[in-house]
Amino acid sequence: MGEMGLTVKGKRALVTGASSGLGLHFAGLLAEAGAEVTLAARRLKKVSAEAEAITKMGHRAAAVRLDVTDPASVTAAFAEHAYDIVINNAGISEEGSALEMDVSAFQRVLDTNLTGVFAVAQAAARGMAQNGGGSIVNIASILGLRVAGHVSAYAASKAAVVHLTKAFALEWARHGVRVNALCPGYIETPINTEFFATEAGQALIRRIPQRRLGQLTDLDAPLLLLSSDASAFMTGSVMAVDGGHLVSGL
Ligand code: NAD
Repeated sequence: MGEMGLTVKGKRALVTGASSGLGLHFAGLLAEAGAEVTLAARRLKKVSAEAEAITKMGHRAAAVRLDVTDPASVTAAFAEHAYDIVINNAGISEEGSALEMDVSAFQRVLDTNLTGVFAVAQAAARGMAQNGGGSIVNIASILGLRVAGHVSAYAASKAAVVHLTKAFALEWARHGVRVNALCPGYIETPINTEFFATEAGQALIRRIPQRRLGQLTDLDAPLLLLSSDASAFMTGSVMAVDGGHLVSGL
């Protein structure tokens, strides 16, 4: 099968947390691959400007305000259209020792990363079920499959997203809705460049079998695969894209 298999031409897609980082990259990628993309985030001004920039490049993009922790906002964001592709990308982390972390900080992470994914996937699947089906991609993390220090809330939330992905896949297959999880390893973005230049950052990179960080473009083909009909027989799957980090030697 050639590259055509990964096409999303003519599909309507929505990306949550599309104002920066992976989400903004995924929105541009899907638009370039021919989808009509809605960039969803809390800061409407920011995503509107990004949507305009994508449109100026000759692709199709729009923006909508969305706070995944606010059920009314989720309902409103999905009121206008059904989507063929929804990327559940919005996520936050609270770092710190589990001995010291406030329960409220733990709860904040779960509200966004887990309850937010549930609310968005439910709204997306309701539309898809009436529309002949669709594909939901949940952006989890390798920290949903293994643990590291000082990110207990984040790791627990992402492990739950991996399991929720399978539960959704089981329930929604009959409606033509596929749900898969993408688990990126450490990806270089403007937010973490500084950390990875430090001694601790360099030590972390040495523990990755490929001895390098992922780049945003390393996620392109996996994201397009899970979004497009090329993965028609995949649902409930969990795909790691991590330079071998999960299989690092013990
Ligand atoms: P980021 O902080 O740049 O992006 C997260 C986005 O989510 C932001 O645009 C933020 O505004 C948005 N967001 C946060 N709370 C929201 C809410 N309540 N409603 C709507 N939007 C909200 O970080 P990123 O690195 O681009 O992360 C994107 C996703 O990828 C996250 O789910 C993260 O856990 C996951 N991830 C990132 C990496 C990495 O190395 N960067 C690795 C594995 C997984």
